[in-house]
Amino acid sequence: MTEISKNPKILTDAFGRKHNYLRISLTERCNLRCTYCMPADGIQLSPKEHIMTYEEIYTIAKKFVDHGVTKIRLTGGEPLVRKDARLIIEKLATLPVQLTLTTNGVIVDKFIDLFKKCGIKTLNVSLDSLDATKNKNITRRSYFEKVYQNILLLVKEGFYVKVNCVLMKGFNDNEVIDFINLSKDLPIQVRFIEFMPFDGNQWNMTKLVSLKEILSEVDSNFAAAEIIKLEDAPNDTTKSYRIKGYQGTFAIISSVTNPFCDGCNRIRLTANGQIKNCLFSSKESDLLTPLRAGKSIEPIIQKTIQSKFKIRSGMDTLEKFNQPDLHGNNRSMITIGG
Ligand code: SAM
Ligand code: SF4
Repeated sequence: MTEISKNPKILTDAFGRKHNYLRISLTERCNLRCTYCMPADGIQLSPKEHIMTYEEIYTIAKKFVDHGVTKIRLTGGEPLVRKDARLIIEKLATLPVQLTLTTNGVIVDKFIDLFKKCGIKTLNVSLDSLDATKNKNITRRSYFEKVYQNILLLVKEGFYVKVNCVLMKGFNDNEVIDFINLSKDLPIQVRFIEFMPFDGNQWNMTKLVSLKEILSEVDSNFAAAEIIKLEDAPNDTTKSYRIKGYQGTFAIISSVTNPFCDGCNRIRLTANGQIKNCLFSSKESDLLTPLRAGKSIEPIIQKTIQSKFKIRSGMDTLEKFNQPDLHGNNRSMITIGG
C-alpha cells in the first residue's frame, strides 16, 4: 500500500482546506534590494549547507505531489539567480503539476527557451513603478528599462504575464491608473498588492493602500459601465476587473484589509527547507533535517497543515496589525517568497 492511500488527507487542514499549491523558494539571494521586502542593511543569509540542494528540492516537491499538490510556484529571493535554477526547473517540470515562477524579471530573457521547453505558460513579474527613478528608489538598483522590456518580450513570446505591484502611500499610489492602462494594449494582468508587514520593512498601516482606496481611484477615473468585475476562482487571492475594451485585466490582492483565507490552498517551502502554513506565520517546521536523517517527513507536513489558523495565522482582525509582536517576528519576505 502506498503512503498516499494510507493517509490521503495529510494536506487537508482542520477547516477542510485542501493544500494543492506549493510555493518553493529557491534562494534567499536576490539581484535587487526592494525596500518593502528586505531591511536596508540586508539579511543574514543561511549557511550554504542549510540550503536545500537540487535533489532535496525535487524529493520534497515529489512528496507533496504524491499527496495531491497540482501546482508549484518557484520564488525567492530571485529564483533565477540560483546557479542550478535551470536544472531545478527542468526536473520539476517532469512532475505532473502546473509549474510557474514569480520573478523580478531582470534576467528572464535568458530563460525563455527553457520555460517553453518546460511547459511554463504564465509568469508573475514584479514591477512597482513605471518611473525609472522611483523604481531605482524602491529596488535600490537600476533595472527598470530591462524589466519593462522583458515584460514586453514575455508577452511577445506568448507567455501570460501577471505584473505584481506593491502599492505604498505617497510613493506609487499615484500610478494606479497608469498601471491599469498598461493592460489596454497588452493582454496582461496588473495586480496591486497591499503592502504587508515583515521583519525590518518599516511597515505601518498608514503606508498601506487598501482595496477600497484602489477601487475608489478606479471609480474616479472610469465610468461605472466601463469597470467590469470578473469572476474569481475559489482559490484566487485576487479580486479581478477589466476596463471595457482593454485587452488585459487588473486585480487587487488585499491580504491585509480583506483576507482570502477561506479558500487558501497554499503551503510554503523556504530555501532552507522549512515549511510555513501561512504567509503571516512566524512559525516554521523543519523538513530538511529529518529528510537528511532519512526520516519520514509526512508526519511533520501533516502536523503543520493541521495547526494552520483559520485566518492569517491568528491575525484575524485589522486591529491586530497594530500589534507588532504578532507579525514583527516573521522572516523578511525575501526569505519567504511571497
Ligand atoms: N524576486 C521575485 C520577485 O520580486 O518577484 C520573487 C520573490 S518576491 C519576495 C515575491 C513577491 O512578494 C513580489 O511580487 C513582491 O512584490 C512581493 N512582496 C515582497 N515584499 C512584500 C510586502 N512587504 N508586501 C507585499 N508584497 C511583497
Ligand atoms: Fe528581490 Fe523580489 Fe524581494 Fe525585490 S521583492 S528584493 S526582487 S526578492
